[in-house]
Order: sequence, then C-alpha cells, then structure tokens
Amino acid sequence: MSQTISVRHDERTTDLPDGSTAIQALKALEAVRGQVVAARVDGAAWDLDRPVPDGAEVEPIYADTDEGRAILRHSTAHLMAQAVTDLFPGAKWAIGPPIEDGFYYDFDVERPFTAEDLEAIEARMHELARERQAFVREEVSHDDALAEFADQPYKREIIALVDDGRIVSEVDVAADAGDGDAAPTFTVYRNVRVGGDGSVEVAWSDLCRGPHVPSTERIPAFKLLRSGGAYWRGREDQPMLQRIYGTAWESRKQLTAHLEMLEEARKRDHRRVGRDLGLLHQPEELGPGLSIFLPNGALVRKQMEDWIRDETLARGYLPVYTPHIAKEDLWQRSGHLENYAELMYPGMEVEGASYRLKPMNCPFHIMAYTSRTRSYRELPIRISELGTVYRYERSGVVNGLLRARGFTQDDSHIFCRDDQVVDEVVACIEFARDLYRAFGLGEPSRVAVSTRPEVKAIGTPEQWARAEKALEEAAARSGYDYEVDEGEGAFYGPKIDIHARDAIGREWQLTTIQVDFNLPERFDLSYVGEDGAKHRPFMVHRALFGSIERFFAVMVESFNGAFPTWLAPEQVRVVPVAADFLDYAEEVGATLRAQGVRVHVDASDDTLGAKIRDAQTSKIPYTLVVGGAEAEAGTVAIRPYRGDQRKDVGLATFVAEVTEEIAARRTEPHG
Ligand SMILES: [Zn+2]
Ligand SMILES: [Zn+2]
Repeated sequence: MSQTISVRHDERTTDLPDGSTAIQALKALEAVRGQVVAARVDGAAWDLDRPVPDGAEVEPIYADTDEGRAILRHSTAHLMAQAVTDLFPGAKWAIGPPIEDGFYYDFDVERPFTAEDLEAIEARMHELARERQAFVREEVSHDDALAEFADQPYKREIIALVDDGRIVSEVDVAADAGDGDAAPTFTVYRNVRVGGDGSVEVAWSDLCRGPHVPSTERIPAFKLLRSGGAYWRGREDQPMLQRIYGTAWESRKQLTAHLEMLEEARKRDHRRVGRDLGLLHQPEELGPGLSIFLPNGALVRKQMEDWIRDETLARGYLPVYTPHIAKEDLWQRSGHLENYAELMYPGMEVEGASYRLKPMNCPFHIMAYTSRTRSYRELPIRISELGTVYRYERSGVVNGLLRARGFTQDDSHIFCRDDQVVDEVVACIEFARDLYRAFGLGEPSRVAVSTRPEVKAIGTPEQWARAEKALEEAAARSGYDYEVDEGEGAFYGPKIDIHARDAIGREWQLTTIQVDFNLPERFDLSYVGEDGAKHRPFMVHRALFGSIERFFAVMVESFNGAFPTWLAPEQVRVVPVAADFLDYAEEVGATLRAQGVRVHVDASDDTLGAKIRDAQTSKIPYTLVVGGAEAEAGTVAIRPYRGDQRKDVGLATFVAEVTEEIAARRTEPHG
C-alpha cells in the first residue's frame, strides 16, 4: 500500500498514492482552472474518478470546450434513458451519442413519444439529477455483458457486432475490442444512487465506452427538444425506433442563449421565409426534396450564378455543359454503381441500354479532359460547370433546400501535375474566401483537413500521405488555423472543408476541395510530359458554394430574407403618395431601370400606409416615397429597410448612391 504513482501535466510531475484518480492527480498538479468534466490520460478520454496508471500524462477536459460539452451531453443522454426506463417500463434502449449542440437516445417503445411525454421525461430527469447520482464505470466480461443485457436486444446486437470484429463507428457504442485473439472487454456505466448512510443502489446501466461526468451534479443545464422515428442503425430493413433529441450546456446562461438561437432559427427557416417572400415553391406534387425557384428567388440565384461564372472565367477556368443522364457503363467505370448506388436513382431503359441520372458531374468533366491528348504545357486544366445532380435522399432526411434530391453544384475539376496541386488548392481556398466575403458571410469560421478513413479507403498509404501533406501545406499557406479531422476523408482521397458562420452564429459547411487519385486511375487519365512519356495527372474536385440551393437557403436564413441590395430581387420600390403623382413615380422608376436597378412602381389603389407596409414586409432595401414636393424639386424621400429615413434627396444623388452600392456588391447598406 506504500506504492506511489507518478503523473505529469505540462512540465510538472507529482507522485501520488497508488490508486489515485484522475481528478486527484489534476488537483495535485493544480491543473484545474474551471469546470472540469473528464480527463485525458495518455491521450485517452478518461473518467475523473478512474485511477490513473503510473507514469501517466494527465490533462483536464473542461466543460466549455467541444470535447467537454460532448461528454456532458452524452452523460445527459444516460440520464434521459434512465428517466424513460422509469416512465416506460419495458422500453428497450439502443444508442445515445452526443451530436452537434446536443444529444439523442433511441428507444424501442410501444408508441411514439408525445410532447407531454417529453415534458414528463424532462421533469423526471430533473428529479434524478437532484439525487446527485454517480456515473460509475465497470469492466465486465463478454458473457457477463450478454447476461446483464439479456432483455435488451439492441445491446446484445452491439455485443455481437463487437464479436464479429465489426465495431461500427456509426454506432457509437462501444467497448474495447481487445487485442488480437483476446476476448473483448466491455465497459458498463451505472447510474448509482448514493444514500445518506453511504448505501449504494444501481438505478440504471448502459453498455458504453465512456467517459462520463462523475455525477449528475455536473449536468447544470439541459432541455429536451423533440422526438421522431429513426431506424436502428439507420437502415430501413431494421426496426423503427423513437429518437428523443435534447441539448445540454455547461451553464444555464449558455442553454438560454442556445434556445433563443433555435427560436430565431425557426423564425428564419428558409421554407417559411421563402414562401412569405415569394422566393420558393415546394408543392407536394413535385415530391420531397424538390423545389421551384419563383421569380424573386430566381433573381437572387441569378446573381449567385453570374458571380461564380464571371469569377471562374476570370480565374482561368474553362466552361463546359454536360448532360443530366448517361449510360450505365460510365457509372460502372467511375465506380459510382459500386460505391454510390444507394444514392442514385434506378436505371431508365432506352433502346436496349440503361441510363442513369447523374449524382455527380465528375465523369463528364473527365470526358471533357479526355476529348483529346493533353500536354504538360496545358496543365492545370480547370473544367467548370454549374452542374445539376440528383441524389436519392430518403424522404425522412430531406430538408428543404438544405438537403434536397436535386441540386446544382458550382462544380469544377482541376487536372494538374504533382507539383501544381498545392498551388491549385491554395487558389481554391482563396476563391472560397472571396466568395464568402461577397455574399456577406465574412471570413471562414473553420478550415478542416479530413484524412484517410479507417474503414473504406482505396489507394496506397503513400498516395494518401502525399495528398494529405499537399492539403495541409495548402491550408497552412492560405493562412488559416486549420484543424485535422482524422478519418473523415472520402474513400477516394482526403479533402478540405471550409465552414462559415451565419448571422445567428450557426456554422455551415459549404466549400469542399478534394484530391482524388481514384478516378485518374479508373479512367486511365494521362498527359504527355516534357520527357515525351505519358504521366498520370492529379484531379482536384471542388465546389465553393457547395450546392447553390443550400447556400441560397443559408443566405435566406442568415439575412432573414432581407438581402443586401445587390442580391435583392426587388432593389427599389417607388410609392406615390396619391394617384396624382404616379407620373413622377414612373419617371423615377424609369430613371433607375435605365441604370440597371430592379425597381417596381406601386400603382395600386391601396392607401399610402398599406403600400409602405407592403414594401417593408417584402424587405425591399429602398422605398422611395414621392408626392407634390418631390415632383416639383426632382427629389425623393428615402425609407430604407435598414437605417435612417432621408428627405429631399436629389434623384440623381440617390441613383448614384444605389448604383455604386450595387456595383460594389456591398453587404452593408449606406449610413
Ligand atoms: Zn455512455
Ligand atoms: Zn467531382
């Protein structure tokens, strides 16, 4: 019992009695400076009350970090599952991972949960949290785990998956697979009530990898949000479970701010704003995930398309147009039928051949590249298209324009030499930065390099290492603090994702830049080198908006429909105070129209008040009110959607201001 263990943090080392826990080590090292939820011991996430091994390196995981919040949220999911089990005896529970901003847990219950159920479950969670239950980790053998969860079929299935060596990352369950032939060890976490007399009672248990917070005391603020059906393991041939979503935060203040943001997001939903402003029409007749851009939406979209077309041409891209369908052979050769078939629509039989709608543009751009022999002197060749693609998203997951069945990518494929990859990727990142600035999203909020996936990846480790290095070098050269998302690359190569934040603080992944060594092989791409021999080019896929529709939806929500003047479908509305001044209003309209301004003169019989209100609810950047005094003096009274009203402004002055604002593509109005 006189043994000591040695632990390290930063540059400091301390000795502790054997069996000391992570939290004791952190306190001894004076490493705790805030609300700590777990530790990291030799790189592995670790429960605070778990003993640390000798010689370990110990770091705190704070509640106000992404990692800390994920642990807090996942612990709250356990608490929720306990409450559900209390209130719905016989419920079977499946999995409950943390997700962005929250958590969920899936249950097999007799009927879907109602709003009242969610209230009752949340109330029960508060009761349980007040009991100051501990989360206690226990290692159990394979057979004991099976016996303990004898009446929990999903847990038994997870154990079977581990047995098969198929620890599935999509099922965030886990356990330790063990090394080689050794039997896997499972970890079980128990929600334990500790009585005043020191008695302990196990209230609920789950098969889980952990870690968790040590006690429900460290779950300061949570809220259940909604419920809905979800297939076990995401597969339609599996049972339908009932999923409850919730959120949890390190403080009540953070929770309140998050709930306010969700309420604001609900008000700004692009489907709602799109309908109110005549931007979009999503009738049931079309089917889920398919939309019509009405004239107002189409005018905004045209600005986006014009911008990207002009900029790609200016940056040396070559435009192409390609068909929407192609023979199945093409999709066979590209590997899409092998790797992507579940997101493709079924074949169409024509004259003995089967055709498919395109889920991606890549094979067509490859056909453009292979239309003739290429020389090293021509490279890089940047093929570009606004290419509409169709993907079979399940009706349960489609979400307006954010996740649609048909959408248009600002898609480009860059064919280049080995020594050109980094420059090309840097140029793509800078292009994306310019795009976010132009469309009012500010600077990218996150640049991430995604590396080789563990499960499914083609190509040699050397190819991956080279491509990953090129992407990291490009990310570093572009000056952003990039992050590395281990294992998040596509199966055919690593990628860079660029995110931006909208006006209410939500982060959206928009741009993707991928390096591909699969398709150049499959299509035997080549160029003639300086040495006269054939060489294999690299291929970079990139979409900057990502999907035009999705980016459009993000803008609608970010601006809440009040687009900057250069993007607004109607930029100026002219409102005569009475019918007598309609002639002057028309003259003002004609003057603006001649300068390319999108203007409408309100000639309706409505009252002045009603006309002004309509212009305001339509979120038109400028409303010009004109009457006798204005007609006499050749002026206008300006009521901007944002900013101060101005009277007696010369028409020529206003025309000069608004045309300058549009030409400069300002995202903030004057004044
Ligand atoms: Zn857990
Ligand atoms: Zn592509």
